[in-house]
Amino acid sequence: QGADARASKIPRYVRVNTKFWATSEALTYFTEKGFSNGDPLDSSTAFAQDKHIPDLLLFSPQTSFQDDPAYISGKLILQDKASCFPAFVLSPPAHEKTVAIDATAAPGNKTSHLSALMKGKGKLYAFERDRKRFGTLKMMLQKAACDNVEPVNADFLTIDPSDPKYASVTHILLDPSCSGSGIVNRLDHLLSAENDDEDGDEDRLLKLAAFQLKMIKHAMQLQKIVYSTCSIHAIENEHVVSAALESEEATAGGFVLAPRQKVLPKWERRGYQKDMKTGDAEGLVRCLPGEDATNGFFVSCFVRKSPGRKRNA
Ligand code: SAM
Repeated sequence: QGADARASKIPRYVRVNTKFWATSEALTYFTEKGFSNGDPLDSSTAFAQDKHIPDLLLFSPQTSFQDDPAYISGKLILQDKASCFPAFVLSPPAHEKTVAIDATAAPGNKTSHLSALMKGKGKLYAFERDRKRFGTLKMMLQKAACDNVEPVNADFLTIDPSDPKYASVTHILLDPSCSGSGIVNRLDHLLSAENDDEDGDEDRLLKLAAFQLKMIKHAMQLQKIVYSTCSIHAIENEHVVSAALESEEATAGGFVLAPRQKVLPKWERRGYQKDMKTGDAEGLVRCLPGEDATNGFFVSCFVRKSPGRKRNA
């Protein structure tokens, strides 16, 4: 099998929910079930630990987990590798004082990842404006034992950053609605993206980009922000990030892009510099379907030059 053919195959990715058990325990569990360490693209009984996301395991693409007791009980979460990047890059500290926001949470895969990284400490507000998807989010949070999460059925754009409730928020995950143009794996599509429209129609992309920019600018009244999409279009990615960097909100808050060493430094595929009006695309992460053994994805991270500074402070 050639290198290209291999890269176009996406393994079945499974994230260990460390709220319930350690990754080492999950490794033992699968070994006892008859899996052995090896390349999951070579054998249906081989599995491996991911080299970028420590709590992520790789199995053969055909492996089914629907009847696995560990999946049924919330100890395993089916989540594409690229969609684990945003929470991992944001990494809110596991500390009682940490206050974080997931601004666009349903169905909740990234919320539960954040909660696990926080080891259930501190507070995580999970916003979801759609009522039906909010129901799905609540079920997911319960199944995954996300006890430090407060789900809120509201539009993130309506929250007042000067409300004392949010005064100590330091970490924000922003994974808003996008065209979903990067999704090649149907199951992950159903799990994590609410859009079926992948036609790349320019007007629709421009509308989405305007909404995405609005969300970043709103978040810039708070602190460290990870912005991600499951789109491969520069209009929703580098263009939105450049416009956010040029915005009044970024200037007022002192926001810059986090450098490569803070954003998955070992991941080779970076943002497209030609699509950036400003900012260093080395700080951006891209995943290409068919080439990186993941869905198409984009991750950026905004930080304040002088941490602690608040726009209204
Ligand atoms: N982060 C989620 C995950 O990994 O499971 C996927 C998020 S999905 C791409 C975007 C979600 O944001 C949708 O459920 C949508 O209803 C919600 N949403 C869009 N705009 C919003 C807003 N202004 N405030 C709150 N939720 C919003």
